[in-house]
Amino acid sequence: MAMAVREPAELVEALKLPAELAESAEAATGRFPLLVPRSYLARIRPGDPGDPLLRQVLPAAAETITAPGFTADPVGDRAARRAPGLLHKYRGRVLLITTGVCPIHCRYCFRRQYPYPEEPRRAEQWRAALDCIGADSTLHEVILSGGDPLILPDERLAELMGRLGEIRHLRRLRLHTRMPIAVPERVTDGLIRVLQNVRLRTVVVVHANHPQELQGDCATALRRLVDAGFVTLNQAVLLRGINDDPDTLATLCERLVDLGVIPYYLHQLDRVAGAAHFEVSESEGREIIEELRRRLPGYAVPRYVREIAGEEFKAPLA
Ligand code: SF4
Repeated sequence: MAMAVREPAELVEALKLPAELAESAEAATGRFPLLVPRSYLARIRPGDPGDPLLRQVLPAAAETITAPGFTADPVGDRAARRAPGLLHKYRGRVLLITTGVCPIHCRYCFRRQYPYPEEPRRAEQWRAALDCIGADSTLHEVILSGGDPLILPDERLAELMGRLGEIRHLRRLRLHTRMPIAVPERVTDGLIRVLQNVRLRTVVVVHANHPQELQGDCATALRRLVDAGFVTLNQAVLLRGINDDPDTLATLCERLVDLGVIPYYLHQLDRVAGAAHFEVSESEGREIIEELRRRLPGYAVPRYVREIAGEEFKAPLA
């Protein structure tokens, strides 16, 4: 993380891109700065401004355009907050905002405007959230999210997981993480031991949008998670100019399956302010899914869904 690229000029120079791209990125960054880890950078094609990985991370002038219907809190996180760091949207499950830090800044991120400074940062600040979970015996699953929960050092992660494991009515722990895609070297033997050393059944949900992401050390990291026995799922976001065609998504899904990862969700873009240029219409999304059904076995076709604030489950779109 210390070696990650944080300046548009550095990124543009490293990838041999036109200098104007750095200027426009600088102007568009706003309060969500550029952040690209080295491993991810190595998977971007030099000299190609249209590279699908570059487009996920390079701030674009379109981010500054105000679009109707695109807001700071598109999925109702605010209304779902039950305690500091604790969101409760769906029956039987709660989500912990473990950290506001991510290994990469995805320009379409639905939490790009989330008020992370208001959430717990130190272990003792988790007490209210853990008390809330402990007091509600209808809860069976906790989702560690963020930010990215694998930003936490192993010891802090182990401590948090241990405290959750002591809550007897919990049965499952889910981690929502882009770390194996963005910084695959985070998937160490030590991390695997931490994840295995908990009473709860652990499910890992990663986030890859394009087959080009699943190369080299990223593929190795995913295999390690699968081989360690974790149910490993992928959620992708349907993104204009990045993966909005059946060829790209079919290749992504097949590569995931070959690595032992189940293509779980294809999300319709959450309408967060600054991300309107990434949106693909639902009708286009349905056509893509229909084509995937023609080409792939059923287990390789992700569920195409949209999150609607206040709804009891993610709405299926196809
Ligand atoms: S890693 Fe996840 S939470 Fe972080 S910026 Fe990307 S999409 Fe958002």
